[in-house]
Amino acid sequence: MAKLIDGKIISAAVKAEVAKETEELKKKGVTPGLAVIIVGEDPASKVYVANKEKACEQMGFASFKYALPENTTQEELIALIEELNLKKEVSGILCQLPLPKHLNEELVINTIVPEKDVDAFHPQNVGKIMIGEFDFLPCTPAGVMEMLKYENIDITGKECVIIGRSNIVGKPMSMLLLHKNGTVTVCHSRTKNLAEVTRRADILVAAVGRANFVTADMVKEGAVVIDVGINRLENGKLCGDVNFAEVEPKASYITPVPGGVGPMTIATLMKNTLTAAKKQNGI
Ligand code: NAD
Repeated sequence: MAKLIDGKIISAAVKAEVAKETEELKKKGVTPGLAVIIVGEDPASKVYVANKEKACEQMGFASFKYALPENTTQEELIALIEELNLKKEVSGILCQLPLPKHLNEELVINTIVPEKDVDAFHPQNVGKIMIGEFDFLPCTPAGVMEMLKYENIDITGKECVIIGRSNIVGKPMSMLLLHKNGTVTVCHSRTKNLAEVTRRADILVAAVGRANFVTADMVKEGAVVIDVGINRLENGKLCGDVNFAEVEPKASYITPVPGGVGPMTIATLMKNTLTAAKKQNGI
């Protein structure tokens, strides 16, 4: 039976640390502030934004929410970001993705100044991650690394296999594991003999976006299995990319969904906002 890596407990520990540091920072007259922009009515995005606001409140941060209508123009959105770039009370800016189709996500990401890019999506921050000299770590992959660290799971020399090559999860995840001396393989929709590759993994990270995609035959006995996927089933329940019932008996460690990687993503966002506030104030 696998040990459950509990994202609720680990994220609470990270957030407690951030809240403590925030209290100290406030004594120096600095309050971290996070601006969150949401465009349109996507229900999942609304839930994510509400969770981020709640976390800001728990941390003692200022939080600024901009809920814009679906028909917001590119110019209006860029003008808002430019205004927030200059606003002193705003340490971090986040634009909830995906955006409605008529808006250019790349342009939006590139408009947020790198110092306030707490999602670490700006090309400058992505480049820094590549060379290992970063200010902000991308929230989800950094959350996964925090979980591995918390459980004292050594990465050096381990076969690490990631399923998914997105800019948000798969690619930066590969870099962070590489920085910790893992032997990293990234799989994707064109990978041949996927199960053969994933069965090599000592540490398997699934970031596909398909419910129950990873089955027992794809997992080596004793592997550490990290499930990044968040999929909503027809019955309304959330489920990961890993078939938990099948894989759990084979794994040594496994993350649940919900209550696994998801809470870690928000905790890292809080950490990044604190870092941004400190850096912007020379602390
Ligand atoms: P994405 O759609 O951008 O990328 C999915 C990746 O899966 C692609 O690189 C694709 O090549 C790969 N893929 C698709 N079909 C495949 C197949 N048959 N075999 C192998 N690879 C295949 O998704 P994303 O943004 O990286 O997100 C992935 C999942 O993680 C989603 O469920 C998303 O909701 C979730 N997610 C969770 C968090 C969190 O905080 N827990 C954060 C971000 C994303």
